[in-house]
Amino acid sequence: MKRIETDVIIIGGGATGCGTLRDLALRGIKAVLIEKNDIASGTTGRNHGLLHSGARYAVNDLESAMECIAENRILKKIARHCIEDTGGLFVTLPEDDPGYHQKLVEHCRYARIDCEEISIGKALRIEPNLNPAALSALRVPDGTIDPFRLVSSNVLDAQERGARIFTHTFVTAVIQEGSRVTGVRCHDTGTREDFEVYGQVVINASGVWGQRICALAGVELKMFPSKGAMVIIDYRINNVVVNRCRVPSDGDIIVPGDTVSLIGTTSKKIDYSQIEELSIDDSEIEVLLADGEKLIPNISRTRVLRAYSGVRPLIAVSGDVDGREISRGIVLIDHAARDGVEGFITIAGGKLMTYRLMAQMTTDLACKKLDSSRKCSTHREPLPGSELKSMPGKHIKFFSGIPQSVVGSTLYRHGERVRQILSLSKRNYALICECEMVCEGEVEYAIRHLNVKDLVDLRRRTRIGMGPCQGELCSYRAAGLFARLNVATSAESNGMLVDFLEERWKGMKPILWGDGLREAEFTHWIYQGLFGLGDVNLPGEEESL
Ligand SMILES: Cc1cc2nc3c(=O)[nH]c(=O)nc-3n(C[C@H](O)[C@H](O)[C@H](O)COP(=O)(O)OP(=O)(O)OC[C@H]3O[C@@H](n4cnc5c(N)ncnc54)[C@H](O)[C@@H]3O)c2cc1C
Repeated sequence: MKRIETDVIIIGGGATGCGTLRDLALRGIKAVLIEKNDIASGTTGRNHGLLHSGARYAVNDLESAMECIAENRILKKIARHCIEDTGGLFVTLPEDDPGYHQKLVEHCRYARIDCEEISIGKALRIEPNLNPAALSALRVPDGTIDPFRLVSSNVLDAQERGARIFTHTFVTAVIQEGSRVTGVRCHDTGTREDFEVYGQVVINASGVWGQRICALAGVELKMFPSKGAMVIIDYRINNVVVNRCRVPSDGDIIVPGDTVSLIGTTSKKIDYSQIEELSIDDSEIEVLLADGEKLIPNISRTRVLRAYSGVRPLIAVSGDVDGREISRGIVLIDHAARDGVEGFITIAGGKLMTYRLMAQMTTDLACKKLDSSRKCSTHREPLPGSELKSMPGKHIKFFSGIPQSVVGSTLYRHGERVRQILSLSKRNYALICECEMVCEGEVEYAIRHLNVKDLVDLRRRTRIGMGPCQGELCSYRAAGLFARLNVATSAESNGMLVDFLEERWKGMKPILWGDGLREAEFTHWIYQGLFGLGDVNLPGEEESL
């Protein structure tokens, strides 16, 4: 069996694992990350993308609130191209407890979160779609963060500094010698090969799956799987984050992101056996739309694009029914101290927002075990793409001849790396996805440099298929590029197309009515009626011709 030697092994390619990979790489420590699916395919890719100011936690969880505002300031500097500094509003509606407004102001002040009381007139100028019946409004430094870009940039930086990553590869066993963890056994689902990785420290950054990884190492960890559902509407109805000014509850936040807005969220304890196959109930969608409409009445006139859900990786404490009371606080476990198992660390809890801090704490502990005194620098080293405050004019001019909408969108998604993506060749800037303005050059860059193995991975790197048409008009073109770039056979690219459409379908199924249903029917006509996709050869079927 193939054997790889390294210093540190990380299990899990969410924000926490990928942030840790980058921190280790910046400190010059050799590391390998194993992810069973794609990076950001776990909870990291299934949340609101809210860059918390901390105000949502200020009343109930002061520690989390303070972590959020500190990281908010750091991320705005180091991850500029992954963030939109939109600002946020907390609005009190006629049916809400008016006393919560003042409570929030006081707690924000205590947590040192800038919180300005503004008139409803001013709030409506900032966010014209807001419910004009709102009674009071507060302005806070919320923003939005794109989890896919964030994670991909962390991995890009780590790989450019020598780190290694294996995606679509499961950790199937934790290897132990006596009471010491020494490595992991892995299974690559693409090549179907098994291999082993050995290192001095193994970090379990597998989020809600952490319970299973701990069991593989013979230690106990009890997760509290709390599911949250969200719906995406077909255009960007708000430009600032809009929160309901009340104790956190269902349907109390609307977050803008790229070309769409999303309404969140619910909170429901699920059985641990359900974490893999998440379903969304009609009642969850109803409550999100009904409460979302109270914040922004125009929501009733939009088309719902899809619904999805994620599971919060919280650690269990007794007595909480839905998980809202559990601290979103960070849990770092040295299993040597807790369970007598040396060389094994678990990092869980926290938020996307606090991924960098979680990575720093984990890397500090790993360094202690490795006897390394190297210090963290992730709070000041910008991510690839975010090096400069703004793109200097001379670079923008370099792209004259390319439609500005393509330059703007590529720059928005990849920051300064746009210079490695766009060129004056017509084929390079030909559009593949019109909803999100993704060109052929961006697809090629993602396939060659951003660990893209299939069309679903490509969606996470470029937003292909995430806009209003949900991949209807772009996915076959993108699939064709995999074959043209010689990274897949035509049967493989057909297989990718089928998987991609199946994956998009999962999110459309719970919202099939009105225009959404018409769009889904149209997609079916194109792919089955026109292309006959259900009848083409998929990988492994060529021989039967
Ligand atoms: C509904 C909802 C909304 C949220 N909204 C926000 C928000 O707006 N802002 C915010 O800051 N936070 C938010 N969060 C919290 C945030 O999304 C999570 O805390 C964070 O993404 C967790 O990241 P992670 O890397 O720890 O876990 P994950 O992203 O789940 O990563 C764990 C990874 O481990 C991999 N893995 C598991 N088992 C194995 C194995 N055997 N081998 C290899 N790999 C394995 C998984 O595939 C997965 O990719 C939200 C969470 C939910 C559920």
